[in-house]
Amino acid sequence: MIPAGVDEGTTIPISVIHGTRTGPTLALVAGVHGYEYPPVTALQNIRRDLDPRDLTGTVIIVHIANMPSFLKRTIYYSPVDGKNLNREYPGRPDGTVSERIAWAITTEVIEQADYVVDLHCGDGNEALRPYCYWMRTGNPELDEVTRDMVIAFGLDHIVIDDDRPDDPQQSTYTSNTALTRGIPGFTTETGGLGLNDAASIEMAEAGVWNLMRHLDMVEGEARMQSGIVWLDRYEVVRSPITGIFRAAVRDGYAVNEGALLGTLLDFFGNEVGEVHAPFAGIVNYVIATPPINEGEPVAMVSHIKPE
Ligand SMILES: [Zn+2]
Repeated sequence: MIPAGVDEGTTIPISVIHGTRTGPTLALVAGVHGYEYPPVTALQNIRRDLDPRDLTGTVIIVHIANMPSFLKRTIYYSPVDGKNLNREYPGRPDGTVSERIAWAITTEVIEQADYVVDLHCGDGNEALRPYCYWMRTGNPELDEVTRDMVIAFGLDHIVIDDDRPDDPQQSTYTSNTALTRGIPGFTTETGGLGLNDAASIEMAEAGVWNLMRHLDMVEGEARMQSGIVWLDRYEVVRSPITGIFRAAVRDGYAVNEGALLGTLLDFFGNEVGEVHAPFAGIVNYVIATPPINEGEPVAMVSHIKPE
């Protein structure tokens, strides 16, 4: 429950599953962006299928972090305060609703956990090829633990991200809020375009189960993903104009430096610009619906780390 403050209040549905044996606490967060459905469904399935008798430790599930955005079906921004929840961490107890949600998740979920996973997908306008972010902090032990967790989640494309803030008071992102507090955490991306498709749900669900095996929270041998495509830098390419974007690539495409990512049109359909790949790499996601605002992403391109 997030009480009303400077604006309206909201609720955050949370499940806490205590295993019959003591062990670590794993926090799983879905719905930080309210138009990203497969992780929400995947964690509902985990709640249904996880028997406390089979669990060592505790699992905290945040089913829908951003209820205002979920119910109003908004991409990126809260319909209440216009803020992107995944840019507001660690939040404030007396701020707007997104800041108060961030504060509640920081203090009541992340800071209570030993491990944190923030589950996303492409937003309602984004076609996305599944991948994880491995955010490196420069602390070798923490980075190693996080790396193994990311590999255990089982997606075969992993973006290495060294550019997140290191100040816990400016942690900005959900999983970075864990990392800046010394808690291993990472971000997953499975699905997109507002779909709640079985394949994306299954990918997130299988990832969580294998991660719990890896952390010795449930029985069984964890299967560590092999043949990973490591992506050692990335760029979110942004639109210089407000208008219409027509993609020339799809999610997962390999592109050369300078390749056409898409065309920009005015509202009459006249071409007014083009967007190109900044370097050779993989298209992690691309905007696949027409509206575009100046400064918003049109695509994310990642460079493949040489062997
Ligand atoms: Zn997201």
